[in-house]
Amino acid sequence: MTDRPLTLMAVHAHPDDEATGTGGILARYVAEGIRTVLVTCTDGGCGDGPGGVKPGDPGHDPAAVALMRRQELEASCGVLKISDLEMLDYADSGMMGWPSNDAPGAFWQTPVEEGAARLAELMRHYRPDVVVTYDEYGFYGHPDHIQAHRITMAALEMTALTPKVYWTTVPRSMMQRFGEVMREFGEDMPEPDPAEAAARAEIGLPDDEITTWVDTTAFSGQKFDALAAHASQGENIFFLKMGKERFGELMGVETFVRVRDTTGAAVPENDLFAGLR
Ligand SMILES: [Zn+2]
Repeated sequence: MTDRPLTLMAVHAHPDDEATGTGGILARYVAEGIRTVLVTCTDGGCGDGPGGVKPGDPGHDPAAVALMRRQELEASCGVLKISDLEMLDYADSGMMGWPSNDAPGAFWQTPVEEGAARLAELMRHYRPDVVVTYDEYGFYGHPDHIQAHRITMAALEMTALTPKVYWTTVPRSMMQRFGEVMREFGEDMPEPDPAEAAARAEIGLPDDEITTWVDTTAFSGQKFDALAAHASQGENIFFLKMGKERFGELMGVETFVRVRDTTGAAVPENDLFAGLR
């Protein structure tokens, strides 16, 4: 053993993804004395602007949105007590098919080797014991999430330093409950059409394929507050409408699929650091 602290690195696409997908584990592990490093790949410039102005609408200024989202990200990191924030500052590529996919500087246009080399440098510096990112579909198909997955897996290959690697996921049983709560709280949310319902049914994993269930109930208040720091983004408002208590009931467990392990820890497991301490 060295005196180097155990370290968790989460690689995310946009400001706010750290809160939605991993707010619970980030808050929990830092409370347990583990160093938490957040890498945010893009500036979030294709998000909603001040006053809810949508990308592509008149008055939407990606540079101004990026500045606002950087401040929100710093506030969220304060709530989650993130040890180190690293921003790669690529331009947000927007949703699949948007013209911003092809804009110069867009993360989606960045060669994987280039992004991976920068991330590998951070991995050599922090030497994370656990790395968390998205699956190869970026969970729901957003190009920046897919690209974050690609550069992370390439950087892990380059560095070969990290004993445990995870992809975020959601159990299908949870997706179903989530759909019910969405209809309850989203008054303007219509029943999904069959194509959308089918696409949604492909998101996440069957419960028995999930390797790792981490109880973060005690930290769901912090997760809620981190999300509230990103209240400018329309999709977060739905969560905030639930209120802290309901949010905690629904979002108190974060789930992952373990894709690399050199510790031999048995699965299913309830701790990303099982086998490391
Ligand atoms: Zn995102």
